[in-house]
Amino acid sequence: MVLLDGKYTAATIRAEIAERIAALVQSGRRAPRLGIVLVGHNPASETYVANKIKACNEVGITAEKIAFEDTVSEAELLARIDALNADPTMDGYIVQLPLPAHIDEGRISQAIDWRKDVDGLTPQNIGRTALGLPSLISATPRGIRELLARYGIQTAGKHVVVIGRSNIVGKPMAMLLMQRPYLSLPNMTASALGDATVTVCHSKTQNLRDICLSADIIIVAAGQPGLLTADMVRDGVVVVDVGINRIEDAAAARGYRLVGDVDFPSVAPKCSFISPVPGGVGPMTIVSLLQNTLQAYEHSR
Ligand code: NAD
Repeated sequence: MVLLDGKYTAATIRAEIAERIAALVQSGRRAPRLGIVLVGHNPASETYVANKIKACNEVGITAEKIAFEDTVSEAELLARIDALNADPTMDGYIVQLPLPAHIDEGRISQAIDWRKDVDGLTPQNIGRTALGLPSLISATPRGIRELLARYGIQTAGKHVVVIGRSNIVGKPMAMLLMQRPYLSLPNMTASALGDATVTVCHSKTQNLRDICLSADIIIVAAGQPGLLTADMVRDGVVVVDVGINRIEDAAAARGYRLVGDVDFPSVAPKCSFISPVPGGVGPMTIVSLLQNTLQAYEHSR
């Protein structure tokens, strides 16, 4: 069994990005620039934003927080989004979710220029991904695809079971896996991408166990600790665990620990490859935001 080490892989990619940006700056070009719109003072959102800014700074991306009080009107926010769309020095930006209840998240995300939509959430980017056109892809599926590629895991002809159908993970993941790999992102080897036979499972799926037993690769993004157990997988399977769940643990310093959706101790011995939680998909998601920002920058000139 080989661990799909997202922490190590993400560090490798960060070094590659930093090297690329240093070379761009040395050649006289400006650094890529990312804006992060934050509305209000949700502590979790503030932590996520601080972490994203830190990750950007470490590779040479100029990142800045664009903060609003939670009393901001939808019209004011939309006006700022128009300004960000029009600013040629702002390569990409994200609007940190959730937004206060009086603001329509759908209306806000649909106002983002898809070329600057480094979260890959606009209808244009999701549609372009579905059509196999160059697009900015939601960070987690992009990170998983990169993790599989860097470990040389082929998906062509394989039966991949995706558990979860969310717009940010399950759905785009399935689209990437099923597509013909004719238009892939830079730095990706076409042979490692797409051409899979994909089954998407969700909370209403019947016979999840039987479906999983015929899988070569299982990607679990359900938010249900212990969902995937040893009796559901065959020997040699590849398992990617996307779930992040807090489990109470009196022995842990914070009173809880993080686990995925996979019963790791029983499933891991049967796997050829498996991603741990933490240290698997999570770091790949963060690094994908950096890759998307660099992609938006490179395509904007
Ligand atoms: P979500 O939370 O919006 O929805 C869960 C999905 O799982 C739904 O489509 C539902 O139908 C399916 N599901 C729930 N219970 C199921 C069951 N018993 N059997 C089959 N399907 C079931 O989905 P999400 O936003 O993609 O998040 C899923 C998990 O992934 C969460 O734990 C989340 O914290 C985590 N996540 C991690 C990262 C990361 O970077 N590691 C990124 C995004 C999400």
